[in-house]
This record gives sequence, C-alpha cells and structure tokens, in this order.
Amino acid sequence: MPTAPLFSFESVSVGPPDARRLDGLDAQLPAAGLTVIAGPSGSGKSTLLRLCNRLEVPSAGVVRHRGTDITQRDSLQLRREVAMVFQRPVTFPGNVLDNLREADPECDEARGAELLERAGLDRSFLHRDAGELSGGEAQRACLARSLATNPRVMLMDEPTSALDARAAAVLERLGRRLVDDGTPVVWVTHAEEQLRRLADHVLLLDGGRVHRSGAVQEALGDAER
Ligand code: ADP
Ligand code: MG
Repeated sequence: MPTAPLFSFESVSVGPPDARRLDGLDAQLPAAGLTVIAGPSGSGKSTLLRLCNRLEVPSAGVVRHRGTDITQRDSLQLRREVAMVFQRPVTFPGNVLDNLREADPECDEARGAELLERAGLDRSFLHRDAGELSGGEAQRACLARSLATNPRVMLMDEPTSALDARAAAVLERLGRRLVDDGTPVVWVTHAEEQLRRLADHVLLLDGGRVHRSGAVQEALGDAER
C-alpha cells in the first residue's frame, strides 16, 4: 500500500462564500521531507498551515492527516503530534526550563538539555530568563518547547521573518536537521530564495488556490526566468 500523504486537502474552503481565504483547495503534502508553502501575502499560507493542527476549521471539505480525517482526532492529541512554530516567538514568563515544562510538565534538566541541543541552544540556556533572549534565541527556545511533546510533524509559519540573516540561517539548518532525523517539516515562507534553499517539495498558493505543487525542480522548473 502506498504511504498516505502527510496531509491531504479535499475541496477545502475556509471563510464565508464572499470572502474565501481558501477556495476549494485540493492538495497533498508528501509524507517525508521538507515541504515549503509559498505565495504572496494574503494568499492563504497561514490558513492552510493552521488547518493542519485544527487551529483553523474548514467551512467545507476534508483535511486528512496520514489518511485520517482530522475531525476524527482529538484536537489536543493532534496538536502534540503536529507541533507549530509561529512567525514571532512567544515565550512564557520564567526561565527556558519553565517554558519547556509548559509543554511537558515532566521535563527534567537532562531532557531539557537534549531538547535545547536539538534546537541549537546549549544547556546554559535552561536557566536563562526567557524574556531576555534575543529574537533568534527566543525562536529556538520556542522550537525546543514545540519539540517537547515529541511531535511527528513540525509546522513552521514564516519562522525566520522576524530574525536577522544569521539567526535565520541557523533556524533553516535546524529545520533541515529535523527532516534529516525523520520529522517532516512544513515551512511557510514568502521568500523565494528561502524556498530554493530549503524545499524538497513545494506548494505555491495564489488567492487561496493552488498555483503549482510538486517536487521542487518540477514545480519551479518552468517558472525559471
Ligand atoms: P498568508 O499567510 O498567505 O499571508 P493568510 O492565510 O493569513 O495569508 O490570510 C489569507 C486571507 O485571509 C487574507 O486576505 C487575510 O487578510 C484573511 N484572513 C486571515 N486571517 C483571517 C481571519 N481570522 N478572519 C478573516 N480573514 C482572515
Ligand atoms: Mg501568514
């Protein structure tokens, strides 16, 4: 039996008929690798990503995760499995370890250090005040917190758009490493250079519809200028 897609969207619409944010969208995201969702501002990228862990609910159509209609899944359980990193890092009061414990109350220092390592931070950050981290460090702390539930998928919504180039490059490497270690990543960007650096697969949106999709070479090949 072929592997079910990571996510599939069957005639999915979001928003009222006169203001569709996604409009009868049909798409499949592959089970492995790094999929980049790209397209102009307002094209529906965040809406599509938020559908994947039920932060958003379709007004019509079906969203499946590995073949199962996600309305059949418990939302909290789904969100532990399908984790998300947002455009701007939002940390909770306290130190970084406190932040990790928001996601996993059982998280001890050894586990915390391991999570930080996967997010590109050394263990000295465990006791740093989360409110005093730089933008790049805070985003990595948020990535570590998202990893604390042992997710099987990582959704990242323009995770580098608030970061400088150096911090962005670090985060791109971490995204790639997650994929190499077996966790598929769905990464939203509006930056074409980032798409070309990162993507195995692409889904290009325009006006709430699929513009192109597929393996990166295939989907971008004839778009080359
Ligand atoms: P993107 O992430 O590609 O910039 P979004 O998915 O955020 O696009 O938004 C798609 C469209 O839906 C935009 O026109 C946006 O203004 C609108 N929109 C986004 N969120 C909401 C919301 N919660 N309610 C109504 N309209 C929204
Ligand atoms: Mg967005």
